[in-house]
Amino acid sequence: MAGPLPGPRSAAMLARQQDRESNARTYPRHLPMAIDEAHGSFVRDMDGNVFIDCLAGAGVLSLGHNHPELIGIAAEQLGRFTHGLDFPTPAKEAFIEAQLSMLPAALQDRMKIHFCGPTGANAVDAAIKLCKTATGRSDVVSFQGGFHGSSAMGMALTGLVQQKAPVANGMPGVHFFPYTYCSRCPLGLARDTCSSNCVAYLENTLRDDLSGMTRPAAVILEMVQGEGGVIPATLEFVQRLRAITRELAIPLIVDEVQTGCGRTGTWFAFEQYGIEPDVIVASKALSGIGTPVAVIIYDRALDKWAPGAHTGTFRGNQLAFAAGAEAVRIVRRDGILEQVQQRGRQIESLLKPLEALPWVREVRGRGMMWGIEFQDPDTGKPGGDLAQQVQDEVLRKGLILETGGRGGCVVRLLPPLNTTEDVVEQFCRILVETVGALRGKQAA
Ligand code: PMP
Repeated sequence: MAGPLPGPRSAAMLARQQDRESNARTYPRHLPMAIDEAHGSFVRDMDGNVFIDCLAGAGVLSLGHNHPELIGIAAEQLGRFTHGLDFPTPAKEAFIEAQLSMLPAALQDRMKIHFCGPTGANAVDAAIKLCKTATGRSDVVSFQGGFHGSSAMGMALTGLVQQKAPVANGMPGVHFFPYTYCSRCPLGLARDTCSSNCVAYLENTLRDDLSGMTRPAAVILEMVQGEGGVIPATLEFVQRLRAITRELAIPLIVDEVQTGCGRTGTWFAFEQYGIEPDVIVASKALSGIGTPVAVIIYDRALDKWAPGAHTGTFRGNQLAFAAGAEAVRIVRRDGILEQVQQRGRQIESLLKPLEALPWVREVRGRGMMWGIEFQDPDTGKPGGDLAQQVQDEVLRKGLILETGGRGGCVVRLLPPLNTTEDVVEQFCRILVETVGALRGKQAA
C-alpha cells in the first residue's frame, strides 16, 4: 500500500462520485477506490495501490482483466462492426456454436438460445416470461436467500427484503420456499438427520390439492446461491426438486448468471447435480471481458413465444460474441475447468481449517466461488460486523473481496478462473492471517 485508503486521488474521485451519482451506488462504499488500470488478477487504483482482485467485476472477468487474446479478437471485431440487433452474424454464429457445444451432449440438440437485453436480470425476466407463456400459468416458486436481479421481476424473485420493501406492487404470485442453507436450517433441523425436509415441504405443497397454491409456471433456482452467501444446494435437494418438477410438468429454470461459464469447475453448475434443467439463464462471464451479453438457453418445446415476445435494442453486441466464442476456445485449450477444480481444492484446504475458530461458522464453496460465514461466537448470530471488518482489513493488505448473505455475514471470493496457484496461496494467506487475528479484537 502506498498509504492510507483511499489515497488522495481516489478520495477526490469518490467525493465527486458521491456528489453526482445516485445514493444507490454500491461497491465503492466498502471498497473505497477509483480504478486506474487492471491486468489479470490485479487492479491498480488511482494512487498506485495494487490489489489482488477476488471480485473480478462481480464474477464477470472469468479470464482476468484484459486477457490479451480476448482483447485481440474484440479489437478485430471492433474494426469490422459492433452492433447487430438480432440479425445473424458470423460472430454471433460462432458464439452460439461455442455456447451450445459446452452443454452436456444430451442437451445440445434439444436447446434453443434467446439473446436478451444485456443483463442477468433481463435474462431472468425472459426466462419467466417464456415459462408463463409456454404453460399458461401465473405463479412462480423461488427460494429464500436467492438473488435474481434488480429489474422489477428479478427483484420480485429475490430474497432481499430491504431492497423490495420501498418498492410496492412487485410481480405478484411468487412463492418463497426454504433453500438448503444447512448451516442455518430454515426449518431448525440438524444436517445429518433432516431427511431434506425443505424439499419435502415443497414436494408436499406442489402435490397437495389444499395447499392454496396453483401449479406454478416455473421454479427458479441458483445451484449455489451467490449474493445469498455462497450456499451450494445439496445434491438430494436438487435431484428431488428436478424429479417433482418433471412429474408435474413444471419448467425448472436454473439461474447460472453467477455460477455459469466455469465458475464452479464445470461449465454450468447444474452438471454436478446430474440433472437437466428446462431453462438456463447465463450472463456475467459469457464474454470473458465484461462486454455485456445475456442469454437464456431453453428446451425448444417451451418455444411458444410470438415474434418480438422479448425484444431489446442491445441484444447484438458483436464484441461480446467474438470474445465469448474465443473465451470458450481458451477454456478448452488451457484446461480452465480442470484448473478451477484444482484451485478449488487448494482454497478448500487452505481456508477450511478456519472453521475451528469460534467466530467462523462455515467455509463453503465450489471451484472459484467461496465464502466464509462469520458468527457471533457467543450467540451464533450472523456476524456481519466481523465480515465487514475482514473486508476492510484485507483491502488494506491488498485484497479485494465482497460480502453477502444474511446481514452481510459472509465474505465472498470470486477470483478470475485462471488465477495462478501462487496468487491463490497469497490471498488465502492474507485471509487466514486476518481472520485468525480477529480473536485479539474480540477479547479487547
Ligand atoms: N442472478 C444471479 C444469480 C446473480 O448473481 C445476478 C447478479 N449478481 C443476477 C441474476 C443479476 O444480474 P445483473 O446484475 O447482470 O442484472
